[in-house]
Amino acid sequence: RAKKKLTDNFEYYAKDIEDQTTWRLDMIRRLRSDFAARKLELWFQPQVDLLTDKVVGMEGLLRWPDGNGGYISPAVFVPLAEYSGLIVDIGEWVLEESCRRLQQLRELGHGHLRVAVNISIPQFRDRFFVDKVKNALTEADCDPSLLELEITESVVMDEPQIVIDALRVLKDYGVKIAIDDFGTGFSSMSYLQQLPLDRLKVDRSFVKDIQPGSAAVLAETIVTLGNKLGLLTIAEGVETREQAIYMIKLGCDEAQGFFFAKPIPFDQLVELLKNTRLPRDET
Ligand code: C2E
Ligand code: MG
Ligand code: MG
Ligand code: MG
Repeated sequence: RAKKKLTDNFEYYAKDIEDQTTWRLDMIRRLRSDFAARKLELWFQPQVDLLTDKVVGMEGLLRWPDGNGGYISPAVFVPLAEYSGLIVDIGEWVLEESCRRLQQLRELGHGHLRVAVNISIPQFRDRFFVDKVKNALTEADCDPSLLELEITESVVMDEPQIVIDALRVLKDYGVKIAIDDFGTGFSSMSYLQQLPLDRLKVDRSFVKDIQPGSAAVLAETIVTLGNKLGLLTIAEGVETREQAIYMIKLGCDEAQGFFFAKPIPFDQLVELLKNTRLPRDET
């Protein structure tokens, strides 16, 4: 009986793996063709200064329409785009689109806003990466200091030297650098000193710890670390007023999260910017 069960399991898993491979290849094929057909969208989530309550920037976040009015999550397709190498071209488009949006915002009188763009490891391995960033900025006539690159700890750990070298060049060019999801990766503290960083993004898992009566030690530690290193800090995934207030008390500079605004299409962002009042004032 035991033997049969083992075989069953093996067949079950073999089929599962086969299905997964088929599914993955199919997704990659569809992603490639939808990207070529310009069907990917770049949405934006506002970033708010916790002292002034003003929108000071936004993070660009990919959206892939599923053809039925819904969207496939980037948490699902970005890993596939990385695995297939598609992220190199998609990421280049994200950079260009972000800079074009900055240009449009400037024309609308929001020339102070910055944009944050997520960068994956295959993009750093592309020897034209630095040029692509500079080109995106010059094509749209953008101030480099309004572009912020977000990298996770795992990106740094994957290719420390390549990443550090590229970031140093871009930093000299005026571009800002943020560490995304800080505290969730296996960051070697020594890299924190070697990287030309501007900002730490406190991962939303630590912000989530902030509940009435709880201490949120890790959120506090990360903000303190950021301050001591002379870096700006931003809290990710702020969903409640309590969390926003707690982050202010910790001395965190900025926040991003559903409490303030969800990621929205560019046109909706422009509408939101017309409103001087943020959701926070209304609640
Ligand atoms: P991320 O860079 O950490 O982006 C933040 C994610 O948290 C976004 O998920 C955002 O929608 C979500 N979020 C923001 N506020 C809240 C909140 O208050 N509560 C909760 N529960 N979630 C919140 P999204 O848009 O699904 O993106 C997932 C990940 O996909 C991103 O994580 C990023 O790693 C990746 N990604 C998205 N766009 C790009 C891109 O253009 N290039 C690359 N390389 N990766 C991207
Ligand atoms: Mg990010
Ligand atoms: Mg993040
Ligand atoms: Mg994340």
